[in-house]
Formats: sequence, C-alpha cells, structure tokens
Amino acid sequence: MTASTGTGREPGRARVDRWRTKAEVLGEVRRAPGLTRVELARRLGLSSASVTETVTRLRDAGWITESRAPVQGRGRPTTCLGPCPDGPRVIAVDVRHEDWRVGLAGLCGDVTGVVGARHDREPEQVAGALREAVARVAGGHRVVAVGLAAPAPVSIEGRVSAGESAWDAVDLASVAAALGPVPLRVGNDATLAGVAEARTGAAAGAGTAVALTVEVGLGGALLLDGHPHLGARGAAGEYGHLPFGDPARRCACGATGCWGPEVDGRALARHLGDDPPADPRSYGDAVLARAAAGEERAVKAVAAVAASLARGIAGVVHVHDPDVVVLGGLARGLRAAPGFDDAYTAALMAFRRDRPVPVLDAVHGDDGALLGAAALALDHATSPEGLAEICGD
Ligand SMILES: [Zn+2]
Repeated sequence: MTASTGTGREPGRARVDRWRTKAEVLGEVRRAPGLTRVELARRLGLSSASVTETVTRLRDAGWITESRAPVQGRGRPTTCLGPCPDGPRVIAVDVRHEDWRVGLAGLCGDVTGVVGARHDREPEQVAGALREAVARVAGGHRVVAVGLAAPAPVSIEGRVSAGESAWDAVDLASVAAALGPVPLRVGNDATLAGVAEARTGAAAGAGTAVALTVEVGLGGALLLDGHPHLGARGAAGEYGHLPFGDPARRCACGATGCWGPEVDGRALARHLGDDPPADPRSYGDAVLARAAAGEERAVKAVAAVAASLARGIAGVVHVHDPDVVVLGGLARGLRAAPGFDDAYTAALMAFRRDRPVPVLDAVHGDDGALLGAAALALDHATSPEGLAEICGD
C-alpha cells in the first residue's frame, strides 16, 4: 500500500540506528501530545539522562517544545512535551474519482488549510493541478514528507496499479518533486481511511480492526495496532474482490463474482432496473434517501444490498477475528437498513452470535483518506529512517 519515492539520500544503517529512540519519543508525543517527561520515561523504559539527551536533540531539530507541567502533590517538577508550533509539516493529498484535496499537517496529524477542486481524470491535468496545490499549501513551511491517497490499488514500490481506473498514468512522483527532494508515500484511499479510523476514529485503541468503505466497489484494510497489513506486494485489503458475488458477473478487475459490485450504487441500480450510474456513490445515497422515505422498490433494493454487505462482513470477521469492523461511505447507510443485523448474525458462526464483533460507523467521513495520508507521511517522517534522512546526520 505504501509507495515510496525516496529523495535519493537514503541514510546508512548506523545513522538510522542513532535515530531509533528519538523516533520512539516522537511516536509517544504524536499519540499523547502534552505528556510529561516522567510519563515518557516510564512508557519507553528510558533513564532520565536518556530522555534529556533525546528531548534536547528533538527540540533543537524543531520537532517538539517543552513547557513546565503543573506540579502534582509532592512530585518533582517536570515538563510537558508537545509538537513545536513552527515544526516540520507534512502535506496530505487525497485524489478521488471526481476531485482532489490537499492540506497541511503538523506532528499531531490534524489537516488544515485544505484546498481542493474537481478534475476531469486527465492524467496531465491532475498531476499539474496537484503540483501547483502542493506548492501553494506548503507556503513557507518546512515540509518533510508528502502522503497521497489514490483511488486505486497501490503496489509496495509505490505505483498505482492499472485496475478499475487509469490512475497509473498520473505522474505521482512529480507531485512531491514540486517541493524539491521531499519523500512521497502513496497509499490506497480505503486503506488510508482505515488508518485514520484506527488512529483517531471508531477503531482507536483496537489491536485488530477491519475498516471497509463502499464508494465505487468496496475497499478496506486490516489494521494491526493502527498499521495496515500490506501483504507481500502492498496489495492486501482488496476485500471488494473477494468472490462473494454472482459468479456470472465479471468485475472491472478482470475476475468474476467479486463482492464489490454487489454492495455499491451499481448493485442498487441493478435491483431497481436502472442503467449503471455514472456516480455510484451519489446514486446510492439518493436510493438510501428514497428508501428512508418509504418508497417500496427502494426499500427492497436497499435490503438486498445491505444483506449482501452483512453476509460478507461476517465472512471477513471469520477470517480476521477483529475487535471491531468500521464502515465508511455508502456502507454506513446500508448498515442502518432493516435486515442488516439479522443477515450479519445469521451468517456468523454460532459461537460468535452471543457477542457479535461490533460493526460501527466510521467517524472521519470524507476526511478519512486525507487524515490517513497525513498519518502515512508522518509515519515516514518520524521513523528512524525518515529522521536520519531529514535531519541529515
Ligand atoms: Zn473484482
């Protein structure tokens, strides 16, 4: 899932090792901004001297600031550690089928200053618009990485695979290159939306989580302690191409019987006898609204598609045994449809029915992939490799 386009300055192993403890400290500050030195030392099992050395180095490099913590009881004075307001930034890019968005994030991963526009899917035009937007959003900030969410499968080498779209023709490497030698990390949009849910959303704190999103087809990710399971080639998580669908139907991916085309707006259109919609997500939302208003044909179509989604989720639960399943996009509305819970429970193995794995709504909505792209860029920038590369010693 995570493509990397390096800067050509990849550091040696010894230099990387020198940044390992600093990366761990930054990880704790990202997870718990404002934590004290004392708490940091406890969490990482570091000596006071080691904390002092590491914090000083990160402060000098502009990553974190310290402020005096309120003294509690007879405790010794300590300081709180937080992101430096003028510290390094990453840029998050979310390329969607109809539009794109670009924003700026600091160490905590909140994305601000978001700009966006619709596009016509013409590769040169998309890449040019993104280069201009990335340069504009960067402004005078020190940008240390770019994270990009792509609406297509992404290989471990960082290439968008030719599949259901022509995104492989977009020169993604040039997007980050607009800023100079800044590393680019690319991930699949559904995977990155899952990362955002696992870090700060409905699956926060879950050791094992599955995130599924229905837009055009179905995408998702298995998240282990907040990190996506990528597989050998980076292409894991293609849940939409599990063969849970009609074996007589060929999917755009080239396989037959895929699950994705059974659970999106195209499936609703088939049930209603409509032509395939140009924008399956908008069409699906409209059908959900008609069903909610009581239109009988829409109610039946939604019930059939919701049942297909629910049965498939049960299958995914059997494979991964997650703490939680999080649904985004059209799947949120389908989950709320009558019959979803019954179909889910009926498809579960008996031992799971007393306490079914919870199926929850994603909380980040349409911001999920953008937040996940920021997290991806920050994961790289604050890794030992990233720090050695960025800080250059
Ligand atoms: Zn398929």
